[in-house]
Amino acid sequence: ATRPGREPREVATHCPYCALQCGMRLREEDGRVAVLPRQFPTNRGGLCQKGWTAAELLDHPERLTTPLLRDPRTGELRPASWDAALDRIVAGVRAVQRGHGRDAVAVFGGGGLTNEKAYALGRFARVALRTRHIDYNGRFCMSSAAAAGMRAFGVDRGLPFPLADLGRADTLLLVGANPAETMPPLVRWLAEQRERGGRLIVVDPRLTATARQADLHLQPLPGTDLAVANALLHVALTEGLVDREYVAARTTGFEAVRRSVTAWWPARAEALSGVPAADLEATARALGTAERAIILTARGAEQHAKGVDTVTGFVNLALALGLPGRPGSGYGCLTGQGNGQGGREHGQKADQLPGYRRIDDPAAREHVAGVWGVPADELPGPGVPAYELLDSLGTPAGPRALLVFGSNPVVSAPRAARVERRLRGLDLLVVVDFLLSETAALADVVLPTAQWAEEDGTMTNLEGRVLRRRALRPPPPGVRTDLEILAGLTARLRAGATPVPPPAGEEDGGDPRAVFAELRRASAGGPADYAGVSWERIDERDGVFWPCPAEDGPDTPRLFVDRFATPDGRARFHPVEHRPAAEEVCAEYPLHFTTGRVLAQYQSGTQTRRVAALRRAAPDAFVELHPDLAARLGIGDGELVRVVSRRGELRAPARLSAAIRPDTVFAPFHWGGAARANSVTNDAVDPVSGMPEFKICAVRLERVERP
Ligand code: SF4
Repeated sequence: ATRPGREPREVATHCPYCALQCGMRLREEDGRVAVLPRQFPTNRGGLCQKGWTAAELLDHPERLTTPLLRDPRTGELRPASWDAALDRIVAGVRAVQRGHGRDAVAVFGGGGLTNEKAYALGRFARVALRTRHIDYNGRFCMSSAAAAGMRAFGVDRGLPFPLADLGRADTLLLVGANPAETMPPLVRWLAEQRERGGRLIVVDPRLTATARQADLHLQPLPGTDLAVANALLHVALTEGLVDREYVAARTTGFEAVRRSVTAWWPARAEALSGVPAADLEATARALGTAERAIILTARGAEQHAKGVDTVTGFVNLALALGLPGRPGSGYGCLTGQGNGQGGREHGQKADQLPGYRRIDDPAAREHVAGVWGVPADELPGPGVPAYELLDSLGTPAGPRALLVFGSNPVVSAPRAARVERRLRGLDLLVVVDFLLSETAALADVVLPTAQWAEEDGTMTNLEGRVLRRRALRPPPPGVRTDLEILAGLTARLRAGATPVPPPAGEEDGGDPRAVFAELRRASAGGPADYAGVSWERIDERDGVFWPCPAEDGPDTPRLFVDRFATPDGRARFHPVEHRPAAEEVCAEYPLHFTTGRVLAQYQSGTQTRRVAALRRAAPDAFVELHPDLAARLGIGDGELVRVVSRRGELRAPARLSAAIRPDTVFAPFHWGGAARANSVTNDAVDPVSGMPEFKICAVRLERVERP
């Protein structure tokens, strides 16, 4: 990335992409920005290909540097002034709310936004727009693990212990996680674990790059992880591996769970999942006899219509073995998006206020309303989860205007073709982004925003460690930060008939430091308490772990050592029963379809598809299938195939691989257009978390005959 005419400058910051938030240095010299390694406790100097190339987007030729307005005569997006764009948004919002009520305007956020932005967005929706409709794309990411953690432990923090614990575990069970492709620097901890004599066991329907490194790979049919979890607990019970003392002293509800797993003989789980009973027994023994054992879940276990129950099955197992809160042991979730953790703590979720407070809790409403300077009874109530929100857009009961910050639901939402139709039917669609994503291309107004190296703020990584993002240089001329955009919109809305309190930092045009100071006050006393986290304190050390209630008090790298965050301090067991996927295979759709990631691409690909080196490494989507299945269907490697479900289809070249089960096909979800995997996925959602069932649906596979 180059921009001539500036003095050399260097900052210590973090990668803009995933939740590992690897430490890196950025150096700008002679107008050129270089990524340099930085020793940080999580990545220890390592970066993946995405991190090394992240600066390329700063001066990318496709970068948006002026607002765009859709011309009503030609239908095209045309450059416009900031005044014209903001006026158009406010006029559109007012018209929609006048005609259809406050809730007719909705806000959709992202798990990559800084803590300050996530906080400011929730405040903007509830105070400036006075709508109950705000949710974010993290609902598609780790919401099932969050809900399961909340109900078992009383709080949800991806890893309730430092990442370094992974290297010390005697047994490590990874369920539906593929960090070798999604978070490569994390694999160093896995290597260290095995060098110390530890055992790595991976549960995944595919023989992934991570599974290849494992001592034992369990390869279940997609959608049967919960049966595996219950069978593991069954074996732990029958072989006397349960930590009875821990269960009695630190938990409630075990008896109901004990009864619920009595029927989960390994042979029954084998019949359902295909995992050999002997492997289930070996896994339970490896976990139950280890001095230190860790169980981690990720999207493979979580992105199901029974995702909360599936995670709960593994939490039950961890509790029965006495793992959570024990040094070097526990249960955790590998959060995905860059600020997937912080993004879910500060009030951009439909059901939450800052500090991870419930929006229907009267005391929480009173506290947050006090910080915001509004009467508590004027704060809107809970909205609806992301997919429900997207699917209601433009319908008689749904919002008619949507403001999107840092998200690309046209590619990332399930049943994406329908979501795209909903977006096209809106009275007003506003997208704030720095590239013209597939969603931005549909918008009435597009606002160009700053990138990670051009703004200050904080992110919270997968360990709950609050980190500093530091600006290397200001945004290019014509570009504003998200906070400046929110401040500008709020100022215009305040000028209307309804008085709106000023947001933090408004006088400075959305100063992130002022917003963070207000965030600290709003979070004080909540489960995710940032009151004692200052930017200076983060600068002095390698981040601060929440909860941290006082600036002169300790932070909390390790949760649950003495008590859980429940009213009685005990963790709660919940009996959970396996149930079939929302859509099962049949004669017309005889194959299972599952989705996932590749190393060189990130999320909906808006950014990484535009980076030359990443494009070379992973230029196109593909459909992975077993050679036996390919032979049966007469499909050759590289031939164009069509994956068809009840909702739509994707087209991509076939990639033959014995790494996948013969009854299952896989496609990565980073691409739009004809290769969009989410044209196929199922929009059935988990009843507790609202998580869509991305990981399994029924399809048929056809070779596309070339004309
Ligand atoms: Fe960035 Fe994640 Fe890669 Fe680290 S692992 S360099 S945070 S994308």
